[in-house]
Amino acid sequence: MICAWCSNSDDAESGEQSHGICAQCFKRILGIPLLDEADLDALPFGLIEVDSAGCVLRYNSAEQVLSGKPSADVVGKNFFTEIAPCTAIESFRGRLSSFLASDAEPESFQFAFPFPTGTVNVSIAFVNSGRGSSFVLVKRN
Ligand SMILES: [Zn+2]
Repeated sequence: MICAWCSNSDDAESGEQSHGICAQCFKRILGIPLLDEADLDALPFGLIEVDSAGCVLRYNSAEQVLSGKPSADVVGKNFFTEIAPCTAIESFRGRLSSFLASDAEPESFQFAFPFPTGTVNVSIAFVNSGRGSSFVLVKRN
């Protein structure tokens, strides 16, 4: 099994996986809602916090670099209609709304962003923020 987040295959002993994520990443991702603002900004991958309506609540530093959009242009807007319409499809938006509705454990999957400059393949992970919103993690592959 290949971890959808770190792309490493787990060795047999620690081969426990949950929702496509290896045990190590799962633990790390589970800790994200406990981080403060500065720690979230220091993460080496993109983080977008969206509420159940798709409104962006937070857009960390790495995501601003990845997307080329400053946080001020994104926070308060609708992620699926105003920021990244390419994600307004069942395999992303549909997946996220079922995730938000289910109180589920973190999950990860592969996604391709069709940016104007070319397709960017990323790993996406969802983690419940514990306050009715979800963190969407974006790591460039
Ligand atoms: Zn992993």
